[in-house]
Amino acid sequence: MSGIETYDLIVVGGGPIGLSTAWHAARRGGHRVLVLDQYGFLNERSGSSGAERHWRVQYTQKDIFALTLQTRPMWAELERLTGRKLIHELGSLWFGDVEVETNEGHIADTARAMDEMSVAYEWLTARDIEKRYGFTGLPGHFEGFLQRNGGAIDVRGTLAALFQLSQEHGAVLRGNEAVLEATPDRDGVTVRTDRAAYRAAKVVLANGSQANDLITPWGGGALDLHAYEMALVTLRQRDASVQRPFWFAFQKPTEEDTNLFYGFPPNPWSTSDEVRLGPDFEVNALEHASRATGVPDPRHVERVTDWVRAHMPWVDPEPTGTSTCLAVLPGDPSRQFYLGTAAGLVDGGENVVVSVAGWAFKLVPLFGRVCAELALDGGTSYDIARHALSPAPARPAPGTAR
Ligand SMILES: Cc1cc2nc3c(=O)[nH]c(=O)nc-3n(C[C@H](O)[C@H](O)[C@H](O)COP(=O)(O)OP(=O)(O)OC[C@H]3O[C@@H](n4cnc5c(N)ncnc54)[C@H](O)[C@@H]3O)c2cc1C
Repeated sequence: MSGIETYDLIVVGGGPIGLSTAWHAARRGGHRVLVLDQYGFLNERSGSSGAERHWRVQYTQKDIFALTLQTRPMWAELERLTGRKLIHELGSLWFGDVEVETNEGHIADTARAMDEMSVAYEWLTARDIEKRYGFTGLPGHFEGFLQRNGGAIDVRGTLAALFQLSQEHGAVLRGNEAVLEATPDRDGVTVRTDRAAYRAAKVVLANGSQANDLITPWGGGALDLHAYEMALVTLRQRDASVQRPFWFAFQKPTEEDTNLFYGFPPNPWSTSDEVRLGPDFEVNALEHASRATGVPDPRHVERVTDWVRAHMPWVDPEPTGTSTCLAVLPGDPSRQFYLGTAAGLVDGGENVVVSVAGWAFKLVPLFGRVCAELALDGGTSYDIARHALSPAPARPAPGTAR
């Protein structure tokens, strides 16, 4: 293996989780860290495209709830170190049918979890929500809560902050270099790209929707990942006089889709007063992430604009723009994320850490830290047991809604 570049840690994927891992590993000093991304950093072609993500502390599952609370001071540290405001506490409003089970959670159980975790919230009826925020036509049985510390995360600001810190701490960042193989053995991992071969003591796979391209060749099965090309719809406000929170509407699924919608108020970090809405439809899974078209399903856009016509009179239902984002979710919604080492999946699997899938942006500072700890220390004190890796025996058929 002489003549090839060697590192203590190679991170595959320079999205937010990969960059966060590189930052946490490199800031310790004494470790040579390389990050490889097939497209380049801050690309808009992966799971982190777009301007914003929902920041929330509340979770139905208390172990994940504890992780979001542990992540909050890490966001504050990231903001302090880079002088950028990344979390905007605009409020997080969940409303709808309080007993509907979704991949995002369950309103009634989450309120109980907030009671147990001593996190404050305000309970609101459909009429309260209409009166305060201007929604119309909400079914009378809808209820929900406002959690004031939730809001929006500045996605591009976060990526820029993590890129800056990783670089300042000496991580080597290489874009436009695709990893073709990451083969572990007892002593480390050999990484082959479309340009070179490398050797590392440890590798972190943070390559999102394409993780199975590197895991399947190990021969021990694939992770049960489903990739969805999600629509995002930008709309103009007719009336911007009311300050609104991030909102998420929980409704019973229809025969065709999960019937869930969410929306952001205008970004405080941009000059536009446009709003962005999305349907949270986990339907029509892609056979492979490379099948993404960048064009949203017109029916999904129409479902969003119909929701606006029915319930949001302060918004013009004619879109000013549409885009997509590649969401990757575990087949088993109760696990929420894949995070752990590949020990048991392949010989030398203890030398590979994997962090992929789920609504993970809010946990980026913590997941990067966990990945760095698993790789460099061989363990972590954070409770990530629920997310441990276990492969699916065979790949599930794409296109099945859950
Ligand atoms: C519509 C939508 C809404 C969402 N809403 C929320 C939300 O409100 N709150 C929340 O917390 N999360 C949310 N998420 C999820 C969140 O955006 C993702 O969890 C997060 O962005 C994933 O980051 P990542 O670093 O794991 O992956 P990515 O950002 O996908 O990065 C993976 C990187 O790996 C690179 N790569 C892939 N394969 C290779 C290879 N072979 N070699 C080299 N590089 C490779 C890619 O180029 C890419 O840059 C949402 C996602 C979507 C799509």
